[in-house]
Amino acid sequence: MSEAKAQEGSLPPAGEPGDFESHWLALQKDLTWIQDHGSKADCLQAIERLESLVAVARYQQACLAHQTEKEFIRDHEERGVNLDDQTRGAAGSVAIARKQSPTGFRNYLVNCRVLHEDTPNIAAAFSRGEFTESQVMTILTELQTVKALRRTEFDALFAQNPDMFESMGRNQIKDTVRKFALSFNSDPVSKEHKTVEENRFARMEIDDKTGAVNLTAQFPLLPGMGLRNYLYEESRKLKKKGDKRTLKQIRADILFSYMMIGEPSKMPINLQVGVIMTDRALFQGEREPALLEGYGYIPAQEVREWIGGHQIENELTFEEMEAKLTPEHIEQIEVLTELSRIYTAPGDQDLISMDSKARIFPQKLKKFISIRDRHCRTPFCDGIVEEADHVKQYAKGGKTTARNCCGRCALCNKTKQAEGWFEYTMLKDDHAMLINPVSGMSYRSTAPPATGYAHKPFPQLAADSQWFKELKDKLNRNDTPEATAA
Ligand SMILES: [Zn+2]
Repeated sequence: MSEAKAQEGSLPPAGEPGDFESHWLALQKDLTWIQDHGSKADCLQAIERLESLVAVARYQQACLAHQTEKEFIRDHEERGVNLDDQTRGAAGSVAIARKQSPTGFRNYLVNCRVLHEDTPNIAAAFSRGEFTESQVMTILTELQTVKALRRTEFDALFAQNPDMFESMGRNQIKDTVRKFALSFNSDPVSKEHKTVEENRFARMEIDDKTGAVNLTAQFPLLPGMGLRNYLYEESRKLKKKGDKRTLKQIRADILFSYMMIGEPSKMPINLQVGVIMTDRALFQGEREPALLEGYGYIPAQEVREWIGGHQIENELTFEEMEAKLTPEHIEQIEVLTELSRIYTAPGDQDLISMDSKARIFPQKLKKFISIRDRHCRTPFCDGIVEEADHVKQYAKGGKTTARNCCGRCALCNKTKQAEGWFEYTMLKDDHAMLINPVSGMSYRSTAPPATGYAHKPFPQLAADSQWFKELKDKLNRNDTPEATAA
């Protein structure tokens, strides 16, 4: 969001209480006028500005909550009580003041501490109403998993790329921050995933009231995602063929029928999961996290272990890993990998094309779009990509190309057909589009960068490149005192 736009929606600087009231009364008058006489766009703009105002208020609450916590600690220190838990009582008091249950408020206070102590740039954006509270809390909760120094590093990255979260919903924000955090904390995350494997279970409970039998189960990530993808894909296929059952009913029926077939080892199920990672992470033991489609980022090491079929030491290269495979390991391999190459633009930020061997063009393009976009491209919608959609409609001459296509969830695909809703590809930006829900309201939607955390403009990519650095060094060396004097 631009600064000018944010300031329009921000509260005026705090003054005397009387000032605040007069501003508030003036605002109410404006809003009443818009309700009575405003157009669609006036109403939507007012809603957007109020959203910024709410965020500004939430930022002030976060400051006050952090101060409250500090007061609690000081008080306990002075009286020499609760020294084992100096913040005791702070979360509960803030929760009551916000008229909410205390669940989650300890986490909220930690986030407020991180916001004030480690992430001044994110705090400044929040104070201008550029983030909603839930967006900023998502960033901070993920940042809690890394050390303060890393959090400050991430904050500096945000300062250099203030648009990096533009139009993102909470899941996309979480993905972006987790990608950063996983480069530093992958070991505890992998351990947690392994605990899930040990704690797998299936439980069937009888509900006396409704006469239903409820199945609850927990699977490790890989087989769990495989099963989930299979059920969702099959149910969608059947529904498309005109099956009268609901998607949920079809999924229950498939699961039940497979359970009744017999030995699980004989099941003809082909479970598929999609993992996207850089060649360096796959083959050379680099730490850049991998993206598990439909889930989010996971440590690269875990994927290397899935493919290898056994535990491998950290940072092992692919050759070393293969050399370690023993016959019994090879037998254990239930994961059949099928590699597909995807190419990135110079600097590795943006996907440009996919392996050209795939058979049917639209299928290939659809897959490319879902890999590139990852989430529905409507701003702030976190939905999964269910359909590839033309930005400029096909009927109006829009081409079936990666540039003119975007991933959409089923709901947004219907929404965009509303009267007056316009979408455009951007002239100078291959992975961005403009969305105008009504005239006068415009949002930019950008596909996430393939690697790294933010798109880099071309001059920056050139400046980062090796040849440019060498050229600069060379020029600096030639930069003799006589030359500068002239
Ligand atoms: Zn959507």
